[in-house]
Amino acid sequence: MGSDVMPVEQLVLAAGHRSAELALPGLSLPLYPLKGYSLSVPIGAQHQAPNVSITDYDRKIVYARIGQQLRVAAMVDIVGFDARLEPKRLALMKRQALETFPRAGDYTRAVEWAGMRPATPTGVPLIGASAYRNLWLNLGHGALGFTLACGSGQLLAELIGQRVPSIDMQGLAPSAA
Ligand SMILES: Cc1cc2nc3c(=O)[nH]c(=O)nc-3n(C[C@H](O)[C@H](O)[C@H](O)COP(=O)(O)OP(=O)(O)OC[C@H]3O[C@@H](n4cnc5c(N)ncnc54)[C@H](O)[C@@H]3O)c2cc1C
Repeated sequence: MGSDVMPVEQLVLAAGHRSAELALPGLSLPLYPLKGYSLSVPIGAQHQAPNVSITDYDRKIVYARIGQQLRVAAMVDIVGFDARLEPKRLALMKRQALETFPRAGDYTRAVEWAGMRPATPTGVPLIGASAYRNLWLNLGHGALGFTLACGSGQLLAELIGQRVPSIDMQGLAPSAA
């Protein structure tokens, strides 16, 4: 057996927006990367940052305090797999955050980041069995991957363990796969 072969009993495909590249023949995964940006703004003693999470629905920006940082997240860009930081997009986001919370933190030292949300056409994640007997899917959670992580893990464990799923699987079974 070659060193790159690892026998498994059950395998879960959970490689986010890159999962389609790893999919086996005949497995069609309707996934597309939706690019988003975030700024992590350091909060000093002199700053006044919100203590609760805030969603600005008009501008589609979310703010969450993480210790001594304000995490600002926004944007949905359809640009394929291009994960580069686009200065114009970041500048817009920074300007809007500054307008809303001018004294929340030191925006000049903000850490910039871009990432991909693994989205499906319907917004429903792919959780469950695939066309392969022991290959399972847990992907396509789009903008809610953190929120749905524990529930998705529990659901998948139930399915793999052949237990009754704790929620109705209607509409969740990845039939496209
Ligand atoms: C700006 C932004 C803000 C967000 N805010 C929120 C939020 O507030 N709340 C929320 O719930 N969700 C949020 N999300 C969405 C959340 O980040 C995703 O839904 C979540 O990360 C998806 O988790 P995942 O494990 O499926 O994929 P990923 O987090 O993308 O993880 C996939 C992993 O697979 C690895 N991988 C890929 N290909 C291979 C390979 N060939 N071999 C080995 N490893 C591989 C990658 O390195 C990565 O570690 C946000 C996303 C963005 C972009």
